Amino acid sequence: MPSAVGFPFSAVVGHDDLRLSLLLNAVHPGIGGVLVRGEKGTAKSTVVRALAALLPVVAVVDGCRFSCDPADPDPDCPDGPHATPAATRPARLVELPVGATEDRLIGSLDLERALTEGVRAYQPGLLAAAHRGVLYVDEVNLLHDHLVDLLLDAAAMGRAHVEREGVSVAHAASFLLVGTMNPEEGELRPQLLDRFGLTVEVRASRDIDTRTEVVRRRLRFEADPTGFAAGWAEADAALAARVATARAALPSVALPDRELRRIAAVCAAFDVDGMRADLVLARAATAHAAWRGAAEVAEEDVATAARLALPHRRRRDPFDEPGIEQDQLDQALRDAAEEADREPDPEPPGGGAPEPEDSPDQSPASDNGQAPPERNTSAAEQPAAVDQADPAPGQPTADPGAGAQGPGQSPATPDPAFRARLLQVDGVGEGAPGRRSRSRAGSGRALRSSAAQGSGLHLIGTLTAAAPFQRARGRAGAGLVVKPGDVRRAVREGRESNLVLFVVDASGSMAARKRMSAVTGAVVSLLRDAYQRRDKVGLVTFRGAGATVALPPTSSVEAAVARLRDLRTGGRTPLADGLLRAREVLRVERLRDPRRRALLVVVTDGRATVPARPGGDAVRDAVRAAGVLAADGVAGVVVDCESGPVRLGLAGRVTTALGATPLRLEELSADAVAGVVRAARAA
Ligand SMILES: [Zn+2]
Repeated sequence: MPSAVGFPFSAVVGHDDLRLSLLLNAVHPGIGGVLVRGEKGTAKSTVVRALAALLPVVAVVDGCRFSCDPADPDPDCPDGPHATPAATRPARLVELPVGATEDRLIGSLDLERALTEGVRAYQPGLLAAAHRGVLYVDEVNLLHDHLVDLLLDAAAMGRAHVEREGVSVAHAASFLLVGTMNPEEGELRPQLLDRFGLTVEVRASRDIDTRTEVVRRRLRFEADPTGFAAGWAEADAALAARVATARAALPSVALPDRELRRIAAVCAAFDVDGMRADLVLARAATAHAAWRGAAEVAEEDVATAARLALPHRRRRDPFDEPGIEQDQLDQALRDAAEEADREPDPEPPGGGAPEPEDSPDQSPASDNGQAPPERNTSAAEQPAAVDQADPAPGQPTADPGAGAQGPGQSPATPDPAFRARLLQVDGVGEGAPGRRSRSRAGSGRALRSSAAQGSGLHLIGTLTAAAPFQRARGRAGAGLVVKPGDVRRAVREGRESNLVLFVVDASGSMAARKRMSAVTGAVVSLLRDAYQRRDKVGLVTFRGAGATVALPPTSSVEAAVARLRDLRTGGRTPLADGLLRAREVLRVERLRDPRRRALLVVVTDGRATVPARPGGDAVRDAVRAAGVLAADGVAGVVVDCESGPVRLGLAGRVTTALGATPLRLEELSADAVAGVVRAARAA
C-alpha cells in the first residue's frame, strides 16, 4: 500500500548499483532508462518510486496538460498555442499498470463527442503525464505486447500519437523509462531488453547486518512515515542538489579520445549488437564523471558504465538469460586499456560513414520480419547449442529442465519443408492482426455499420443516419447536426495472429522409428507457415527425464527453427511433463497478452513412459495432464506420430482428453490434403 509519504531514497540500504543507475539517468536522461531484474521482495519498486523526489522541478506552461516547457513549447501541443504564464511543479513518476488499456497509455480520442458536440475531445494518457518525468513499469516482462510496441514507438520518437478514423492527435512524450521484473516469471522480449540503457540485477543481501538494518528502517518507516522521512530529508535534499549540479555540469564534461577508444574496445570485446551500446556507454560514463564532479571522463567512469550498460547487450542467443561475468568484464577492460593507450590510426577504416544513432533493431528476434525464416542456418551447422552450451559457474541455464534430458542423439536432419495446411483456432477472437484465425478486432475490413455493436466510428454510416433529420433539427450553419443516436460503429472482420505452441516429443520411441526427420520437417513447415501468418511461436520439447522450454514464445521463427534443428533425441518419454510445461508457458503468456489466442500443437506417438510423479502411471498421468489443459480451454491439435505394424493408439487417448483435433503427420501438408483444420477450445 503506498502511503502519502514515500520511503526516502537516502534511507535505502544497499542496492548501490540500482541507486547509481537511477541517479545517472537523472543526470543524463539520454542514457535511456533502467531495467531492474530481481526476485520478489527486494524493494525494487521502493527504490524506483523514491527517485522522483530527487529529480529537479520542472518548469511548465500553467494549465497545459502536456507539460510544455515555457521556454520551448511544443508547436503541435493539443492545448496550444500557449499564452499562459509559466509555473513549476515537481517531476512526476507515472506508473504504467501491466493491465492498462491502449487508451489509458496513449490517451483517448472521443470521436462521438467530437461529432456530436463539436469539441476536440482528447483525454491525455499516461504517456502525456510522464513527459519530462519517469515512466515506471512494474513487471515490465508481463506487459501486453501491444502496449510494449506503443511504448517503444513513443520512447524512440519522443512523441505519442493517437489516431482514430483519420483524426489524429500527437504530443511530446519523452520520459525516463524504468522497468522492474522478476525473471522467474518470464524473460523480457529481446527488442525491449535492448531499449533500456542500463540493467541492474538486485537480490536481497545475505549479510546479517545489512538485513537487520533493512528491516529496522522499514519498521520505523511504517510506524511513522512522516517522522522517518523528515529524518532523511536533509540527505535526500543533498542528493537532489548533487543531481542538479551534475546535470548543469554535464555539457562541459570532456570525453577524451582515449576513453572513447576504451569504450569502443570494451564494446567490441563483448560483441554487442550495433552501435547503441557504445553510445549508451559514452553517455553513462560522461554522466558518471559529472556525478563525481570531474571535468573529464576517466577509466573508472568507463568501467562503471560498462558494468551497468553491457550485461543485457551481449550478442548471444537472445533467449538465454542476460548476464555478464565480472571476470570477463575485468579482462575486457584490461585489454581495452592497451587499446586506449595505442595511437589511433590516422584514417579510420572505410572513411567512417557513421552508423545512425537509432539504427534499426538488429537482434535476430526482431519483429520486423525482413528475413525469411530459413536465413539463420548457421545455428544448424553448429549443433547442440542447447545441450553443450557451457554455463559458467553460478550462471543458471536458460531452463532448469535442460539438464534433465541428457546428451541424447545428434539432431535429425529435417525432411524438406512443405506447404502447411492451415490450422485455425475455432471461433472469433480479438487478437493482434495476422493471417490465421477469424477476428473481430479493431482492424480489418469494415463489413457494415451498426448502431448496436462494432468498434470504432463508421463515419459514412453515422452521417447517413443523421442526414434525413437535418431539416427537422433546424440545421442552419455549415456543420451537420449529429445526435448521439446517429452514431454507427464499424463491424469488422479480419484475421488475427495466434500463439502457436509446439510440444514436440523427442524421445527414443520417436527417434528409433526414424520419424524424427519427418517430424522436424513437418514442424519446420508449420513454423514457416506461422511466420507468414505473423504468429508468435514457442517450443516445448520433452525426452529423458523431463520437459524443456526450448523456446519461450517469440515472434522470431528463425530462433524456433534453429532450436528445432538442434533438437537432440533419445531417452524415455515424459509426455505428462511436456504437457504441464506447455500449460505453464501458456499461463504466463495469457498474462502478458490476454487477447492472443493459443493453438497447441502436440507432436507425439503418445507412448508415455515417464510419469509426472515417481510411482505414477505414465500414460494415465499424460491423459490427466491433457485433461488439465482442456479445462483451461486450450485449443489443440495432436499430430499422431505412431507408425509400424502394431499401433497402440495412445496418442488418441491424449487427443480425446485434450479435446483436440487428431491429425496424422501426413495430414499437415496442404498439398496432400486440402482444407482448414479448426481446433476448438475445449471450454
Ligand atoms: Zn502545451
